[in-house]
Amino acid sequence: MKTRAAVLREYEGPIEVTQLELRPPQLGEVLVEIAASGVCHSDLHVVNADLPLPVPMVLGHEGAGVVRAVGPGVQRPKVGDQVVLSWIPACGICRFCREGAPHLCVEAADATREGRLLTGETPFSDQAGKVYPFSMTGTLSEFTVVPAVGAIPLPDGIPLYMAALFGCAVMTGVGAALRTAPVRPGDRVAVFGAGGVGLNIVQGARIAGASSIIVIDRLPARLQLARTLGATATVNVHDEEPIQAVLDRTGGFGADLSFEAIGSPETIAQAFNAARRGGTAVIVGVAPPHEEVSLNAFAFPSQEKTLKGCWYGSANGPRDILLLADLFLSSQLLLAPFVTRTYSLDDVATAFDDLAMGRVGRPLVIMPLGQKEESPDGTL
Ligand SMILES: [Zn+2]
Ligand SMILES: [Zn+2]
Repeated sequence: MKTRAAVLREYEGPIEVTQLELRPPQLGEVLVEIAASGVCHSDLHVVNADLPLPVPMVLGHEGAGVVRAVGPGVQRPKVGDQVVLSWIPACGICRFCREGAPHLCVEAADATREGRLLTGETPFSDQAGKVYPFSMTGTLSEFTVVPAVGAIPLPDGIPLYMAALFGCAVMTGVGAALRTAPVRPGDRVAVFGAGGVGLNIVQGARIAGASSIIVIDRLPARLQLARTLGATATVNVHDEEPIQAVLDRTGGFGADLSFEAIGSPETIAQAFNAARRGGTAVIVGVAPPHEEVSLNAFAFPSQEKTLKGCWYGSANGPRDILLLADLFLSSQLLLAPFVTRTYSLDDVATAFDDLAMGRVGRPLVIMPLGQKEESPDGTL
């Protein structure tokens, strides 16, 4: 069948909306009609050649849709199910999967790097040959084929186009706070970076009962959104030195947990230095692979600090989609404030520009399926 998709043909090239061939789902795969796809900084990283994944590529890895066909051997999900796509569909049998860390699945990591699915070759092609999906998803396409284990049924009651955000930003940010860290009641938390992931760390920290949540960013609009989502203090780096600002707001000690959600060596070091004695810095932002960080070596033993990485919120997708759904349905987890602007697929380049410039919460590209569902004023 044919599908329209946002394709990056070469690094730093334009994003082209074009028609591709999409093969049918094979053993262990499903065909999904996408309702909506977010645009994430990781998509920008591929465009900017900061994330070395194969091109040409169908961008997008944060999406939700409806299963339209299933390949041989697939019992779940079923045709007609509403699903959120996971960009780490875990194999279930590697060492990491068996040890309860499916987000570290090596089979999934290999498939992503090679631009194929866990279950087989890339489903996309054009006259020139293969077109690769971003991390086994390729959600900036009206249709995609994914491993069945990566199409996670969505509980009832959640608008499908909003649920796209569960696929990356919410899973990563809330997971960083509730799973990776985890934040405990009364913790004092600092969050460096108020983009889609950072703002969801804020939500996760609030849900976990953090007593203070200090958010550091450079854009007033994002800091305002952080307050809506639970920040108790905000720091604009144009006005204050961020480490001192965290110290000033934590009695001079620093944060119990200090999250970095930008992916730059400078802010990673700031997050580490803003953690208190015995505290933990959690690095969630995805820096380009060649970057290195310089940290004071003496601080590790003398202050007993911990530096911890976080990949996809340490999430177990099928388990954590239930958690996110319950939190949303009980009004603890907010989605609507993120969607400050929606785009059609033809407008995808604008969505990327707006994300790069920090003009919006989370750019959400609404596909024809999602347009039937979205309410006129964008509210729930
Ligand atoms: Zn992402
Ligand atoms: Zn695995």
